[in-house]
Amino acid sequence: MSQVDVVVIGAGAAGMMCAAVAGQRGQRVVLIDHATKLAEKIRISGGGRCNFTNRVVRPEHFVSENRHFARAALEAYTPQDFISMVDRHGIAWHEKHRGQLFCDSSSDLIIKMLRQECDLGQVQWRMPDAVQAIEKTEMGFTLSTSSGPLETAKVVIATGGTAVPQVGATDFGLVWARRFGLKIIEPRPALVPLLFDTQMWAPFQVLAGVSLEAGLDVESMGAAKGGRQARAAHTPHFLEDVLFTHKGLSGPGILQISSYWQPGQPIELNLAPQHEMVAALINKKSQSRQQIVSVLGDLWPKRLAEQWLGSMAQLRIAEVSDQQLKILGERINRWSLMPTGTAGFKKAEVMKGGVDTNTLNQRTFEAKAVPGLHFIGEVVDVTGWLGGYNFQWAWASGFACGQSI
Ligand SMILES: Cc1cc2nc3c(=O)[nH]c(=O)nc-3n(C[C@H](O)[C@H](O)[C@H](O)COP(=O)(O)OP(=O)(O)OC[C@H]3O[C@@H](n4cnc5c(N)ncnc54)[C@H](O)[C@@H]3O)c2cc1C
Repeated sequence: MSQVDVVVIGAGAAGMMCAAVAGQRGQRVVLIDHATKLAEKIRISGGGRCNFTNRVVRPEHFVSENRHFARAALEAYTPQDFISMVDRHGIAWHEKHRGQLFCDSSSDLIIKMLRQECDLGQVQWRMPDAVQAIEKTEMGFTLSTSSGPLETAKVVIATGGTAVPQVGATDFGLVWARRFGLKIIEPRPALVPLLFDTQMWAPFQVLAGVSLEAGLDVESMGAAKGGRQARAAHTPHFLEDVLFTHKGLSGPGILQISSYWQPGQPIELNLAPQHEMVAALINKKSQSRQQIVSVLGDLWPKRLAEQWLGSMAQLRIAEVSDQQLKILGERINRWSLMPTGTAGFKKAEVMKGGVDTNTLNQRTFEAKAVPGLHFIGEVVDVTGWLGGYNFQWAWASGFACGQSI
């Protein structure tokens, strides 16, 4: 039976980083993946150009039951550390809005880079290969795999989350965490479009394809204050584009807020975040003979203005009562909506929830109750915002674990 120091299961972002770092420290590492194609999620990421990190990465950019867990690993391996590796490999990159860094040409270059780093560490590949069982022994672990048994001192589970099963995502990490007695925070789709009741959404279906910048909040459940909902505790306010679809809403703003949304909770959109609309409309009324649809058309795509106003669209703003303008303005600045659900794991970019961070050491990612067993990357209950944060988590957790094993 083969004997090694470390078996890493899952050759994605976190697994390759961990295997490379451990291998380069002289550990005998085997890296196992069940897929036939390497690192599909990296390949499809960032529209094929991999938004591999963000210039500014702070613990606030992550959702977790334990908001402090990620700090140590994120501080020990920063975006600049990854940028240095990318530069060393001569990969050209550029910055898009809000500090998001992308490859100039293709995400394949990031995969190739990580593969080369693994080769530098003489990592042995077993791919495609399936792990059927992990058994704890006195010396470490025995793994049953489709290419034969393996004995190892340490196991790192880096099989990611369950989002996009179409490219080989599985619940392997969750299943084995449970079998070893680790608590799981309920896995849910995140960075995912939100859906609405079919009847409620019917009038908005014609807007499919319309996109605009909006302010987004999650409202606290049932906590009405003077007729208005309060923002839920610990949820950030986002200002991002929102996209109307046939079944609901998508776009970066909705993906961001989806990670904080709980079933049964309303969301609030500000569809004119740069304007206090009640005052702006009443002010306009005294100065303008424009049709109200043209007034909103100055702010919004025309299709949205027409649909939003319905039969009011053709009225001149001067003909609309102050009371009607007040209702209109308030609804534009505070559009409260109750999603019925999300588009699910097939459409989600990530899984939120996963292995409870309280069961792991935050510097080594070792399970406190199972010496030698580690969990890294998306399978852990740390979920990044949209914008390169999930990869930075994969690199940072992979690095920390690879350094410590
Ligand atoms: C469409 C899309 C676009 C994205 N774009 C970005 C982006 O631009 N920037 C960003 O930061 N994040 C992005 N993400 C999120 C990012 O891809 C993940 O958070 C990241 O890949 C997680 O890294 P990981 O190593 O934990 O898991 P993964 O990279 O998913 O790797 C897990 C590996 O485990 C293997 N595996 C799974 N089950 C088994 C099993 N049973 N046995 C053996 N092997 C197994 C898989 O084949 C895979 O190779 C995107 C996600 C999606 C779906």
